[in-house]
Amino acid sequence: MAKFNVNICPVCNGNEFSSFLTCTDYFVSNEKFKIKQCNRCGFKITEEIEDEENIGSYYQSENYISHSNTTKGLVNSVYHRVRKYMLGRKRRLVEKAAAMQNGHILDVGTGTGFFLNEMREYGWHVTGIEKSDDARKFAKAEFNLENLPAEELFKLKENEYDVISLWHVLEHIHQLSENMDAFSSLLKTDGKLIIAVPNHDSYDAKHYKQFWAAYDVPRHIWHFAPEQMKQFGEKHGFKLASLHTMPFDSFYVSMLSEKYKKSSLSLFKGIFNGGISWLDSLINKAKCSSVIYVFEKN
Ligand SMILES: [Zn+2]
Repeated sequence: MAKFNVNICPVCNGNEFSSFLTCTDYFVSNEKFKIKQCNRCGFKITEEIEDEENIGSYYQSENYISHSNTTKGLVNSVYHRVRKYMLGRKRRLVEKAAAMQNGHILDVGTGTGFFLNEMREYGWHVTGIEKSDDARKFAKAEFNLENLPAEELFKLKENEYDVISLWHVLEHIHQLSENMDAFSSLLKTDGKLIIAVPNHDSYDAKHYKQFWAAYDVPRHIWHFAPEQMKQFGEKHGFKLASLHTMPFDSFYVSMLSEKYKKSSLSLFKGIFNGGISWLDSLINKAKCSSVIYVFEKN
């Protein structure tokens, strides 16, 4: 099977890299993966992962909660409460960014459909792209949403969408640059591209290092910090309009990282370190565990 390796930095076109960290896949396989960093811009890339056709086996876990509905365990239970709150917060953020209440939104990597269902309930015209057959079936059964498989992205109507959103999805996409170019064509001239990804420049990333849950190898291929995301957007014809924090991610990611470290008092330590990360992000949004970027076309 062919491995997916990157020799040119998708952010700055640099071709010199150095090793950064070796991380373990705690979710599914327990295999180790190396992350390298671009010497020029600091962008980080997971090495030697499976290609797009074969990566699916690394998503097959009951633990992969963003694609399932299990409420087992405290961390999951907290996650599900937070998700409910976050759905409303995401919707309001989209409405504010787009300065409209009922446009056409394309959500890429829409998963089980909770977010698009929320948007539709509030009057939005919705289109979803989702790679996983199971997640698409779930969205159909639960919400009657007809989400489309990933390859359909490149067949959608151009200049059609007011908003394109990716909530913790871009870091999973093999065809990173091709997707960004597609978003540019699909968005209306005054459309907004909203991308949420983990931030390796956050307090919790630096504190937990190889245990940081949001490295999530090999599922996370690309690891952004705000400087690199801004530059990457500009490379594809976008201008960064605003940046927003995801405060719950500081806590959730810290608790999960403590679990990976097998710490004693992991819940307490996770909340404590999540708190520091959250306070840090109050002072500087660019230090939050996860950051939401709102781009407009340049
Ligand atoms: Zn680079």
